[in-house]
Amino acid sequence: MNETDTLTIIKPDAFGSGKAGHIIAHLESAGFRVVAAAVKHLSRDEAQAFYAVHRERPFFASLVEFMTSGPCMPIILRRENAVPELRTVIGATDPAEADEGTVRALFAESKERNAIHASDSAENAEIEISFFFAGTERLPG
Ligand code: GDP
Repeated sequence: MNETDTLTIIKPDAFGSGKAGHIIAHLESAGFRVVAAAVKHLSRDEAQAFYAVHRERPFFASLVEFMTSGPCMPIILRRENAVPELRTVIGATDPAEADEGTVRALFAESKERNAIHASDSAENAEIEISFFFAGTERLPG
């Protein structure tokens, strides 16, 4: 068994409306294990740094505003093929286009307020995990 780690964030829309427990239960049912978790209210600088890849996009300012609007929940998830499996489980960016039964189809409000983040590559997963967690906070095995 070759388990790997990825990063998810339960975004401020979902965390603030009491959906964190439902979303974690959904992810556990899909075979993921939580190996570290936190509750964090991102500063403007932190949100801008986390989404730096999108800084030229027209929605960047709005995205930063949203991500700093309340606490979120970064979580390290572990299973086989964690990165691609989580991308499948969360569904398309826009919940209107997300497959039935995906996290975004079930819990997202809009293309921006879309409940959950998931790393898009193994390389980015490690960068994003390091953004939120020290090595010692991550359970081994
Ligand atoms: P993801 O990998 O599916 O999260 O999507 P992206 O990496 O392309 O975008 C990052 C985040 O920016 C998304 O999850 C949304 O919260 C937001 N976002 C993406 N596209 C749009 C858009 O067209 N409009 C707005 N307002 N927000 C967007």
